[in-house]
Amino acid sequence: MKADYRVRVLFDETAIADRNRELARSIAATASPDLLVVAILKGSFMFAADLIRALHRSGLSPQVEFIHLSSYRASTVSSGKVAILRDVESDVAGRDVLLVDDILESGRTLVYAKDLLAARGARRVMVAVLLEKPGKRAVEIDADFVGFQCPDVFVVGYGMDIAHNFRQLPFVGVVAHGQSEPDLFDRP
Ligand code: 5GP
Ligand code: MG
Repeated sequence: MKADYRVRVLFDETAIADRNRELARSIAATASPDLLVVAILKGSFMFAADLIRALHRSGLSPQVEFIHLSSYRASTVSSGKVAILRDVESDVAGRDVLLVDDILESGRTLVYAKDLLAARGARRVMVAVLLEKPGKRAVEIDADFVGFQCPDVFVVGYGMDIAHNFRQLPFVGVVAHGQSEPDLFDRP
């Protein structure tokens, strides 16, 4: 099945690296020195890794935590339900938290995570996402920091998958089936 896919580059490595630097500067301008970054697994792992290093270069020394949430079935359609597969280990009470996720779409994942951390006493919960799909919100939430506006297509790469594939790609791309548009697709 994987061999039938072609991936077209949507946001390349340079664009992502440049944007991460800008995001880190904006975050550093508002975050407190005892920032706790909570990366939402699995999709944000690559973005979080790069963003955290960019935060370091912008003068922050954040602590880093992970929470594994699942809002998607093994398809491209949202189930609307969020489950905790692995929780954070740190006490978030009184902390200034930056939630990091790959995509803000319906908003259910981030509302769930934000409410959870707020209920545990986090002092402030900010949200950074690599991509935002406009017009797809099912619940009300805005990200404080957005990498790129994303067209309403299913994207993969830079940590994001389709049926467990393509997380390794160093860029964000769009998947197409078959060979019908050979000129549009590549594999840098
Ligand atoms: P939300 O709860 O905002 O609807 O869901 C956002 C989550 O859905 C993202 O964190 C991501 O895991 C998944 N998601 C939404 N759109 C896409 C997409 O285009 N590609 C991939 N791989 N995952 C997506
Ligand atoms: Mg996700």
